[in-house]
Amino acid sequence: KPMEGRITDIGPKHYDQFYPEVIKKNKGKWSHHEILEPGVLVHVAESGDEVFTVRCGGARLMSATHIQEICDIADKHCDGKLRFTTRNNIEFMVDSKDKVDALKADLSQRKFPGGSYKFPIGGTGAGISNIVHTQGWIHCHTPATDASGTVKATMDEVFSDFQDHRLPAKLKISMACCLNMCGAVHCSDIAILGYHRKPPILDHEYLDKVCEVPLAVASCPTAAIKPAKVELANGETVNSVAVRDERCMYCGNCYTMCPSMPLSDKEGDGIVLMAGGKVSNRISAPKFSKVVVAFLPNETPRWPSMTNAINKMIEEYAKGARKYERFGDWTDRIGWERFFDVCELDFTHHLIDDFRDAAYQSWRQTTQFKF
Ligand code: SF4
Ligand code: SF4
Repeated sequence: KPMEGRITDIGPKHYDQFYPEVIKKNKGKWSHHEILEPGVLVHVAESGDEVFTVRCGGARLMSATHIQEICDIADKHCDGKLRFTTRNNIEFMVDSKDKVDALKADLSQRKFPGGSYKFPIGGTGAGISNIVHTQGWIHCHTPATDASGTVKATMDEVFSDFQDHRLPAKLKISMACCLNMCGAVHCSDIAILGYHRKPPILDHEYLDKVCEVPLAVASCPTAAIKPAKVELANGETVNSVAVRDERCMYCGNCYTMCPSMPLSDKEGDGIVLMAGGKVSNRISAPKFSKVVVAFLPNETPRWPSMTNAINKMIEEYAKGARKYERFGDWTDRIGWERFFDVCELDFTHHLIDDFRDAAYQSWRQTTQFKF
């Protein structure tokens, strides 16, 4: 219970202060919802009240002026209320059908100087929603690839499916720029994952000065790091660490604890593609994604090999899946061997799980194929 009379600015306010009136009134008493057209939904309450939602794609990075514009739209049409979905879509909600057309028209005429939509409407139903993603080179310290670049390049390719319902079922794409995975790559239909392929570089000269050696040792989930005395080029012996490369899984946890153990490497870093995951239990139980492309280099600024592979997977899924089948339901039905054939992807030994450390067998779940 909060202390009486205490005023604090720690943490956000309780979300129920921000409900639109119609949602506050009908909380927990909703009857059903339907998608009226791509990007437009209606939720109907038991009382007969309706909420109409217009969903828009959000920008990968938002400036203060862009957020101000979002707030202005909410003030103008939605009594100052709006919500973001977990996939960074912006949802504007109104309480009657006659307000929907004005809202849609206003959103559609807001464009960037080059002519592209600021607030593209879509992202619902049997199409592609916004990509859930992580921070990338602009913000985080352990990325093996960029989030803004890969997400923008992919979304530009699949934008027509953001505005359309031509696919057999919804197709969720996610992106995480390292395997610490602040995204949802383990459970999305198609996922982009940044992947390091080399162990950390050890900056012995500074390691003991900027890090605590026991903390660096403790940070490693595979016990690959041990304390070591190291002789520098000037003959001085310092406290540092040694890494058993064969135990390293390139996760970057040590770099999180110790800035003298950086992992980024131009040749070593790149992208893994995964496919077939989902959280829904419709048709089949939830599934983990599987690694289907073991490595693609970071081809900045547009990652063409990555977008080509994603496009091919989507086109084959659109052609081959039955209505309502999610990506993983389709691959399970036709068999993964056929999936690799039709998507023209190589099945290599890199896709097979050969990790055999006894300490991890009891709980470890893998995203790779097993023998
Ligand atoms: Fe940082 Fe990894 Fe999260 Fe990307 S996925 S934001 S690199 S911790
Ligand atoms: Fe251990 Fe991960 Fe660092 Fe490798 S990258 S040494 S597995 S903490």
